[in-house]
Amino acid sequence: TYILQNQDLVRKEDAYVHIDDRGYYFGDGIYEVIRVYHGQAFASWHHIKRFIASAKKLDMNLPYTEAKLNELIDLLLHKNKLTDGLIYLQMTRGIEPRNHLYSRESTPVLTGFTQPFTRNHVVQTKGINAWLTDDIRWLRCDIKTINLLGNVMAKREATDNKCQEALMHRDGTITEGSSSNLFLVKNNVLYTHPATNLILNGITRQLVIELAQTHQYKVIEEPFPVDVLIHADEAFITSTTMEITPITSINGQVQTTYSIGPVTKDLQTKFHDTLPKN
Ligand code: PLP
Repeated sequence: TYILQNQDLVRKEDAYVHIDDRGYYFGDGIYEVIRVYHGQAFASWHHIKRFIASAKKLDMNLPYTEAKLNELIDLLLHKNKLTDGLIYLQMTRGIEPRNHLYSRESTPVLTGFTQPFTRNHVVQTKGINAWLTDDIRWLRCDIKTINLLGNVMAKREATDNKCQEALMHRDGTITEGSSSNLFLVKNNVLYTHPATNLILNGITRQLVIELAQTHQYKVIEEPFPVDVLIHADEAFITSTTMEITPITSINGQVQTTYSIGPVTKDLQTKFHDTLPKN
């Protein structure tokens, strides 16, 4: 398997990380995960645009155009002969002796790898258990940074409690999952947290909102308190890897169950129809 290292494709054994990489000392970097279906990168322009937006928000140099990033992603996926899987793309601020203060002169380090992955049909049809916990993250969750300790700790806590995803709330307002966005359904209306600094505006979230509206569903992007979980008819999470995954129970600070309802199923079918086919 080959790794993208800056603009080169190198064998994994030959890939190299510098000890003074700011990503290593400070988690000073950004990333994207892109899904590949039947050899085609899905929604790659959305991901590339968000990657560039994350770099801007962190005042990082970006020595690549959108077109160049797209070309590098394509090269990597063809070199690795990936048909169904994920492309991981990361860029750290660069290599400098450890110092909180970054210079604006360092050259960013770009890394990319691919990984085979296919849909888990059982999870998509049977749903998952979610664990509700505190959102302990910083106030710039809109930036897709590799600094993911709040998310990582929530995920461990969820798994230790036999749940497959953590849902987080900030002072009683539900934000999102540890690596997904949350949607609730009540009387055929969809509810999700607005795309503010408190969540990552998921590409799947954006595509699902668009898809739902195209099919005459009403979508309300407003913050809601944890108690609303108890009153929802259906709940699901969205992400590049999980697509639209139903939630069948909430555990922990709030406890409730859902059946996998008609709106979730309808959107799952419609979403699958938009994916690259053979
Ligand atoms: N929210 C967080 C915190 C995430 O880490 C992710 C993806 O990893 C998402 C939401 C979903 O984003 P996307 O649909 O772009 O994969």
